[in-house]
Amino acid sequence: MKMTSTSFDFASWPPELSETQLEETTRYATTYALAHGLLYLPQLPIQPPIPSSAIHAPLSLFPTPIPRRLFSLAQQLQNFYNILYARIALDVEFLDKVMGAEEGVGRVDEFTGKLWRGWKEIRDEGVQRPLQLGLFRSDYLLHARENEPLELKQVEFNTISSSFGTLSEQTAKLHRYLHATTGYYDLSPVLKEENFPPNQTTAGLAEGLAAAHKAYGNKSAYILFVVQAGERNVFDQRWLEYALLERHSIHVVRQTFDELMTSASLDSNRVLKLTLPTKSAPIEISTIYFRAGYTPTDYPGTEHYSIRFLLERSKAINCPSIPLQLAGGKKVQEVLTQPGVLETFTKDWNYPGTTSQEFIDILRLSWMPMWGLDQTGERKILSGSEQHLGVQKARDRFSTLVLKPQREGGGNNVYKEAIPEFLDNLLPEERQAWIAMELISPPQGIQGYLIRSGSSSASGDTQHAPVKTEVISELGIFGWALFGFEDGHVDEKEVGWLVRTKGRESNEGGVATGFSVLDSIVLV
Ligand code: ADP
Ligand code: MG
Ligand code: MG
Repeated sequence: MKMTSTSFDFASWPPELSETQLEETTRYATTYALAHGLLYLPQLPIQPPIPSSAIHAPLSLFPTPIPRRLFSLAQQLQNFYNILYARIALDVEFLDKVMGAEEGVGRVDEFTGKLWRGWKEIRDEGVQRPLQLGLFRSDYLLHARENEPLELKQVEFNTISSSFGTLSEQTAKLHRYLHATTGYYDLSPVLKEENFPPNQTTAGLAEGLAAAHKAYGNKSAYILFVVQAGERNVFDQRWLEYALLERHSIHVVRQTFDELMTSASLDSNRVLKLTLPTKSAPIEISTIYFRAGYTPTDYPGTEHYSIRFLLERSKAINCPSIPLQLAGGKKVQEVLTQPGVLETFTKDWNYPGTTSQEFIDILRLSWMPMWGLDQTGERKILSGSEQHLGVQKARDRFSTLVLKPQREGGGNNVYKEAIPEFLDNLLPEERQAWIAMELISPPQGIQGYLIRSGSSSASGDTQHAPVKTEVISELGIFGWALFGFEDGHVDEKEVGWLVRTKGRESNEGGVATGFSVLDSIVLV
């Protein structure tokens, strides 16, 4: 049995429920979820324009144990990451070098190149850059090394469409409720009210959007949510809309790229206006929040890119701007680990209570070793003839690695045994678009009870019984940053968290056990 410094026994988690306890807890959980908007739209061949039914989101019955010290470390790291990524997005020279289509990843990755070129063109027009907003999520796994205390290691940093903030607040409330109503049958001493950390992600993320709206300076303007057609995770987005209206009296309008093609225009002052059939006059947009646009399939034609560039060119505050989206690239994450690079982002460092060296040290400790496939990680730049060394190193260590391209949204990585064959077929000129990252090793033996709704069909709802299986849980911390002010300061805040749990045997979740679920935290 593996004990940690906190002496919590992960391998004995969760407590074993009897059959009747399991049935009762599951019924409490699904009905709570349905009553509290912890929902998805059902999987249908085509989403009807007006939804008439919903299913509960996939859920874990018990929260996941996380050591208290690592949870507060993750929260503290978020403030640093908020500032760091704001600074990266403002560093045009750095982004050109790393992500650009002349020297960087954009040369070999078409999607990155297209975004970068559009941004470059706007810059070359001399357009005055407005403020930028980031709603971020930094993701972590616990890392268990033999005879070492558990560590916290970053999986990735998301700068666009970071989802599940509001649903994870509801999931945290669900677990509190299950504890309040069943006491979880007194099966575990750690299941105590004081071990369930608060999670106010909805108010926090809405506050970020409201801060941008306020900085824009027109109270009656709207916030635009750019969304995907047929999106099933709409409730996660709607909760933010409701919070903006109820807490800040800010109206939201949702549009797909296709809808924006007919509704959006810029006036002579680059003010973004939408002409909508339901409104008698065009509405002005203060802030653009992208829940689409992170993947090439969101841009089936050049006209989709044109719309993105029109939004980027506008006076509205983009969340994220193209540079901030580029800053979230896996390549940037890797380049930051190269010697001396993080140091370049600590100029005029004045975070209260932390020196720039402490900032550097604490961030570095959260990273796994990484290198570009056109590099080795030991030296910054390799000559042309040495560039196979990054690939060679990945071949030598394939069983401990994941390879990542410049993509978001899951399903793009290459893991372990699949790496050698993948490298056999990777063209040398494409190496620059990929990074290699050492695998994080989460503690073994933790189990979970995972439940998901069956699909509703014409013949009625099918039920899925809870599955008890060994799991891996990924912690995400949300934060926002508003930046681009003349004096260089960054308004930022850490605003809550998320846990997603998947079956251990699947690399990304969704494969072997068939799904990953929303979860929450019990501090141990
Ligand atoms: P995406 O932007 O597509 O979400 P991620 O970098 O988050 O890409 O990778 C997807 C998933 O792959 C993660 O949620 C995690 O489960 C797994 N993963 C990624 N990097 C690592 C790593 N270094 N060690 C272990 N698992 C990883
Ligand atoms: Mg991810
Ligand atoms: Mg991502």
